[in-house]
Amino acid sequence: MKVLVINSGSSSIKYQLLNMEDESVLSKGLVERIGIEGSRVVHKVEDKKSVIEKDIPNHEVGLKIVLELLTSEEHGVLKSLEEIDAVGHRVVHGGEKFKESVLITKDVLENIELMSFLAPLHNPANITGIKAAMELLPNASQVAVFDTSFHQTMPEKAYLYAIPYEYYEKYKVRRYGFHGTSHRYVSKKAAEFLGLDYENTKIISCHIGNGASVAAVKNGKSIDTSMGFTPLEGLAMGTRSGDLDPAIIEFIAKEEEISVKEVLNILNKKSGMLGVTKIYSDMRDVEDNAIANDKVCRLAFDIYEYKIAKYIGSYAAAMNGVDVIIFTAGVGENSPIMREEISEEYLGFLGVKIDKEKNDFKGKLREISTPDSKVKVIVVPTDEELMIARDTQYLVK
Ligand code: ADP
Repeated sequence: MKVLVINSGSSSIKYQLLNMEDESVLSKGLVERIGIEGSRVVHKVEDKKSVIEKDIPNHEVGLKIVLELLTSEEHGVLKSLEEIDAVGHRVVHGGEKFKESVLITKDVLENIELMSFLAPLHNPANITGIKAAMELLPNASQVAVFDTSFHQTMPEKAYLYAIPYEYYEKYKVRRYGFHGTSHRYVSKKAAEFLGLDYENTKIISCHIGNGASVAAVKNGKSIDTSMGFTPLEGLAMGTRSGDLDPAIIEFIAKEEEISVKEVLNILNKKSGMLGVTKIYSDMRDVEDNAIANDKVCRLAFDIYEYKIAKYIGSYAAAMNGVDVIIFTAGVGENSPIMREEISEEYLGFLGVKIDKEKNDFKGKLREISTPDSKVKVIVVPTDEELMIARDTQYLVK
């Protein structure tokens, strides 16, 4: 079975075509700047990369170009589009409605549209991608895989905020959590790799990249996660503040004479690493400068680490123990220093011990704890596309 995975944003479509016989990636790429000047498709087959610059006014045109590329003589990997059996779509918000991935029907599509009130920036873009795929690949089954659904197993005490209950009843204000597909993939993979029973293991999954979140996965189920009603809550991120005293919002709005909306934009786009350093949102820059003894970057790096460590500590309490800690995503997979400092500085009380030599690598699946460490620490490269393709295959079969 061949599955096309689509992640469509407001002005982009990321895609991957997988052959599910051996889960290999046949082709992948990115349509960017949709509806903006300078739009283009970056298309990859194995190591060959082609860049096609073209006017792409909307998602349907973007996807049409991708499908032409996939079947073209020069850039293609398919004889005909009929070979695509199914399309798996990443959908950001499934609200309380979607507790797992689903085959897309008319009713499902309507419900995804209804969830747009919770994710007004993301869901409409995802829906645009779904509609384009339905139009262009009418014979393929379509599946939706939600960022939120893995966290739908959280108990009430974890997802309810201590605010008037009526806001939950009236507006569904609660913790939803995101990065669910990644936390699900890496936690399963870690248990499998370590030879542990997933249904009987306490795992803390740290998805730390530009966007970042931690999840507590107890016996195969997410019981808490650091992102909340929106992805703004929790860790300090590339440009997001993470946790703060909500009173700060009104205070800054008043002092700066700006609206609450503007403050929230600052907390989403101009805070985190960018806010503290004033220049860098990319963790590589923060790390390089911290190593070169730049005081501000060292501070930003410390803040990033400290928040992760605090969440690990609190989730160890939430699960009354922890067997495995996972590092994944851009920073988690590629920054040995970050992994070492978090483990050595803060996690000794849990009995965490890191093998510094084993930890000195990037981007591979590897255990980095010592044999006598009480908690296994492991790096697992995330693969949300593969997880989406697996769900798609499962539902179609
Ligand atoms: P997102 O999907 O949230 O955009 P990623 O998971 O791709 O983010 O992670 C991107 C982040 O990972 C960037 O801040 C990048 O600088 C960081 N990163 C990548 N490689 C390294 C590295 N070697 N050291 C530190 N940070 C790194």
